[in-house]
Amino acid sequence: MIGIVVVSHSAALAQAALELASQMMHGDGAPVELAAGTDDGGLGTDAMRVADAIDAVASAGADGVLVFMDLGSAVLSTELALELRSSDTPVRLTSAPFVEGLVAAIVSAGAGASLDAVAAEAEGALAPKLSHLDGGTESAPSHEVSAPGAGAAPSAGAAASAGAAATARTGSGIAADEADSSVGGAPQTSARVLLVNAAGLHARPAASLAAVLGKLDARVTLRNLRTGNVVVDATSMSALLTLDARRGDELDVTATGADAQAAVAELERLAADGFGEGAAHAPEPLAETGVVAAAAAAEQQVVRNGRGGEPGGIGLGAEPRAMGVSPGVAVGVVVRMAPAAPEPLAGAPLPEDARAEGAASVDAAFEAVRDGLERRAVRLTEPRSADARAVLEATAALAGDRALATDAGRRVIEAGLSPARAVWEALDAYATKLAAQGGMLAERAADVRDLRGRVIARLTGVPEPGLPDRTEPFVLVADELAAADAALLGTTACVGVVMATGGPTSHAAIIVRSLGLPAVVAPGAGAVADGVTVLLDGTTGELVESPSGERVAQASARAVAPPFRGTGRTADGHHIDLLVNVGAADGAHHGAELHAEGVGLFRTELAFFDRTTAPSLDEQVEIYRPVFAAFPGRTVVVRTLDAGSDKPLAFLPQAAEPNPALGVRGIRSARASRAVLDTQLAAIVRAAQAEHAEASVMAPMIATVTEARKFASVARDHGVARVGVMIETPAAAVTAAELLDVLDFVSIGTNDLAQYTLAADRELAVLAELNDPWQPALLRLIRIVGAAGAAAGKPVGVCGEAAANPSLAPVLVGLGATSLSMMPNALAAVAASLAGVTRAQCVAAAEAAAAATSPADARAAAAAVLA
Ligand code: PEP
Ligand code: MG
Repeated sequence: MIGIVVVSHSAALAQAALELASQMMHGDGAPVELAAGTDDGGLGTDAMRVADAIDAVASAGADGVLVFMDLGSAVLSTELALELRSSDTPVRLTSAPFVEGLVAAIVSAGAGASLDAVAAEAEGALAPKLSHLDGGTESAPSHEVSAPGAGAAPSAGAAASAGAAATARTGSGIAADEADSSVGGAPQTSARVLLVNAAGLHARPAASLAAVLGKLDARVTLRNLRTGNVVVDATSMSALLTLDARRGDELDVTATGADAQAAVAELERLAADGFGEGAAHAPEPLAETGVVAAAAAAEQQVVRNGRGGEPGGIGLGAEPRAMGVSPGVAVGVVVRMAPAAPEPLAGAPLPEDARAEGAASVDAAFEAVRDGLERRAVRLTEPRSADARAVLEATAALAGDRALATDAGRRVIEAGLSPARAVWEALDAYATKLAAQGGMLAERAADVRDLRGRVIARLTGVPEPGLPDRTEPFVLVADELAAADAALLGTTACVGVVMATGGPTSHAAIIVRSLGLPAVVAPGAGAVADGVTVLLDGTTGELVESPSGERVAQASARAVAPPFRGTGRTADGHHIDLLVNVGAADGAHHGAELHAEGVGLFRTELAFFDRTTAPSLDEQVEIYRPVFAAFPGRTVVVRTLDAGSDKPLAFLPQAAEPNPALGVRGIRSARASRAVLDTQLAAIVRAAQAEHAEASVMAPMIATVTEARKFASVARDHGVARVGVMIETPAAAVTAAELLDVLDFVSIGTNDLAQYTLAADRELAVLAELNDPWQPALLRLIRIVGAAGAAAGKPVGVCGEAAANPSLAPVLVGLGATSLSMMPNALAAVAASLAGVTRAQCVAAAEAAAAATSPADARAAAAAVLA
């Protein structure tokens, strides 16, 4: 049995909430303890009381304790209580809504649910209210305004938050400290915001937040509820980064000052909008990066002289392996980045009377760097440079961050450091702090060190470190590529990038990808000398030093694939629709620019990662219309929401699942949220009609014919012209013939079909070889589906990442695929590959590959037929 502890500033509030919850209970119910109010009957929280309450529940026999807290110091007191308690029963602090969550938890705990399940129930408890109140309009996150000391709860609904925001600050020492951050008598606003953008509060969002708040007369304090990190001045971008705020984190916001309310409203607006990033800047685990990572783990190698496995080859054995971070092949002469500024010597302290001037020169150098970066940003005007421009602006904002320049200046004034040495130490300390936090923040450390080199270069009168100034094509090899440099690569003759450090989500990698430059991260790249010719494959992660002529010829053939002209066909004229996978209008436009024949997969869930409430019909219509508009008269296949597993959507709440990939994802989420499916189908049909198009819609994660039949009937009732499903489960593959009896088309999601066939989580790099799309078991299942499609005379698409693989494309066609749908950049290579082979060769290659017993044999067998 799970016990519950209720922590509140107000005993009356806690008692009333419990009373309400108790109305729902049947039987004995779960043990519940209150830790609310102060001993003298006042408002406040006390860590010792919370600890006692936890111990009391534990000694009543609870095997786990869920703790509800109202605001501010209630959370702090509870965290402290975890140190003070004497029991060792597992305890979970929940951010669930106080009243609804408590009701749900008490019912669920009373029914004997586990701690995970009780917590999930509580945390999902707001969903019914949200969807009821939403009514087609987005409800803004609430916030309350109160004057310090006012204490009166303006309404019953706001009592827990507004009252606490104003009065909790008398309850404990910690709370009293909080009160100090408020401006006496000035309005104070509190709120809690959820970070929904994929990359959290990284440099760009931090820059835009700092810029927006900097214009207001408000002091904004943020606290990350996950990490406990606090930032007292949210106008400092560098400070914001130390929050280590990631997607899904909740931030407690307190603002004081004349513009406090506006500041909180702006913050809420930016956060709700994913800081303008939505899901578009996700680290692409679902598309390119997933494949890159899989291919990298399977094939990654850095070799010399083109002989993988040769002793002395870099990147072999136990060394870290190379990884493709931007697809494509490049061959060129290595040019290394100029070394960063050397560490300035500490030297003797500056005389007192020279220090003010020294500090002023630090300010001037930061400003000069900021101006230079801003000027470069302005030059990037093409829409496709938008990412690059945003990052340059973020780096410029870092340079303009007063906190960094002030820190360096202080070191000049107080310690008498030379300006260059002071900048070195200040930025090094900051970079080290970021690096220590790991993950994406560690990747930002490179940007800070880059800024350090630039500022020191300004101070010492040498040119800023930057990209090589070459007119002939080159492969850039960088020990650490800063975002600011990566952003300018498109203006140089660079044909490919090798980074010794970084990851697929580093800003540099994001920019390089957006520029369409092939890139690998190769830990051994430090050993590659200037002037050497290298071949790099950004899909496989391969880096070959001094490749043989034959190898270069092969790779060059791939690298210079002519642009796709708009009709996919084999050498003997067999037509294969070459389509694109998109997540939003941008991708559709890019696909249309590259002459895609339509959209084979519109991953609609990507548009809604940032939503806490279900998008309304009208909003969805606006999102879908431009995708139809980009392909007039062409196929556009819209997939209904594939929520769940690694793609949770806040408005489709889920219970905790031991195996989320095998849980309620895809079409299964419609069981509990049928209205969401209905609204989406209606919106798709309306969007198609508005663009004079016909809607093709498919459902993800179909496992049975019954599910497919039901989906088809619902979709047709909504007026969907063509109904299909994804073939992502082995069950769907082997029943493809029956599925096609009730459907117009199917599309094979090889990413999931591989993971479910091989029982290997697609997110796990260590199992990447099992998710290899050349696995014969996978190929044989695809063959079953292809044969079913041919027998029924109905289309069979492939929209998993396998479709983007130019070597595999002929095999997929031979197995029966009638269309291939891929990221836009893959179109040219796949089209070229198909154009070089006949349909009969495709069939023969498919048979040979499917008959193999390993991916390597399958590759070799297909290559032998297609050679
Ligand atoms: C797939 O599973 O192959 C697919 C295309 O769907 P997703 O990658 O979005 O799961
Ligand atoms: Mg899938």
